[in-house]
Order: sequence, then C-alpha cells, then structure tokens
Amino acid sequence: MNRPSRRTSQERLSGARGVLLDLDGTVYTAGRLIPGAREAVDAIRGAGLPLRFATNTTRRPRRALVEQLAVLGIEAEAADIVTAPRAAAAWLAAQGIRRAAFHMAGDTLEEFADFDADDQAPEAVVVGDLGTGWTFERLNRAFRQVQAGARLVAMQKNRYWRTADGLTLDAGPFVAALEYATGQPATVAGKPSEAFFGSAADAMGLSPADLVVVGDDITSDVRGAMAAGARGVLVRTGKYRDSDLAGPDRAPDAAIASIAELPALLGLPG
Ligand SMILES: [Mg+2]
Repeated sequence: MNRPSRRTSQERLSGARGVLLDLDGTVYTAGRLIPGAREAVDAIRGAGLPLRFATNTTRRPRRALVEQLAVLGIEAEAADIVTAPRAAAAWLAAQGIRRAAFHMAGDTLEEFADFDADDQAPEAVVVGDLGTGWTFERLNRAFRQVQAGARLVAMQKNRYWRTADGLTLDAGPFVAALEYATGQPATVAGKPSEAFFGSAADAMGLSPADLVVVGDDITSDVRGAMAAGARGVLVRTGKYRDSDLAGPDRAPDAAIASIAELPALLGLPG
C-alpha cells in the first residue's frame, strides 16, 4: 500500500486556490447525500475558495443536477457544474462538427441543442451511458457509423459506477467495444481527459496547479487530475475499493474517509 501520510498530504494540498468536487460517490451516492457533504461545501465557500462540481454522468443535463443538489440542500447554478456532455459539446463545436449521432440516455440531449441529430450520415458518433438502452442493434449501428467515417467521441469512458443495487457497467465498456471493432480510438471529452480539468480550472480563473480535485474514482478523478497538473484527493466512498490504493501506480496526494474530512485536510476553519 502506498498510502500517503496525513502530514505529507496537508503539505501537498497547501496553497490550493480552488476545489473541484466530483458529484456521484463523493457528494452523494445512490441519490443520498454523503454525511458531511453539505458542511464541506459550506466550509469551502465560507473560506472564499472557488468551487465547482464535476461529473461524468451522461444521464442528466445540468438543469437536472442543479435540481438534485437543491433537493439535497446544496445550492448551485448550471454554470457551477462541469459535465462530460458539456465537454463533448465544446469539443464538437471546436471541430466544426454539425451533425452527430447521439447514443445516450435521458434528457441529456438538451446539452446538444446546437447540433443536428443525424443517424444517416453523422460526422461524429457521441457515446454516453445508455444503461439498459444498449441493444446489439444499437451498438452495431454506432459501429457502422464509425466505419463509415464518423469520429468516435466518448463523453466518458468510465468502467462502472455504483447504483442502488451494486456496481453497474458505465459507458466505457461500450466505447471499448466500438474502439475494438473499428480500430479507432475514441476522443474522451470528460474525466480523466486533460482538457476537462483544464477547462474546469479555466472556469475558475485558475491554472490546474492551483486546483484540488476530489473524487471517488482513482482513475478518472484522482490520477486524471494529477496528470493534468492538479492535486488529487481520493474519498473512500462511492465506488472506492481498497484495491484502488494497492499496486505500483501513483498514489493520490491524499486519501480521506469521506468528503466530511475535506475541510480539515484543506486547513479550513470548521
Ligand atoms: Mg464519482
């Protein structure tokens, strides 16, 4: 186990000028607030540190995330939430892409209102978490679209997430299937892409080095943030498993039991 000591962690986190909090598994899990999350958010805001929320969920638009946070007693605006669908939309726009095939669940399509949904001759195939909506026919259609020349865009490539009944396949396994079949690597828009963390820091007027990223996903949140130059804090809630801290890979800058320990870790007045 290469778990960092607490003292070293606090040293590594000193000088943080902004905080990016993962939502699912960090602030709430299975729709319930993680104890201490609201107090941690209040402490960060009370200290005057810029705060944003980050999520790779592709199941809900920011509007719905704002509503969910409000139900849990946390105030936020859409602009406070950095999401994988928004990052994908920004990437499409930057590439000058107008027509895309969208494979995602729920109301998330509203984040792509600036684009034409096109299943016949898309310029890009945009893949999110479709859950039980995936069928062989649908995956095969996406495969054929990429084979015909469309760019493969993964809103995210998470392997799994925790739902009320256990660990559940996320978008990643389906993206991997399309990459394998087509031989084309996907462009990943959400965490852990460097662009995602860079734009989050940008939105706070900070550089990634000023940013502390807190999440339950050792790969997408913590190592992604650290690769982008930010500091990564792992919470042992949500999808966390002890094996996340085993092995030779780079240790997080800090690992804490839950978000409740974040204010103390950051040296904020409780
Ligand atoms: Mg998470």
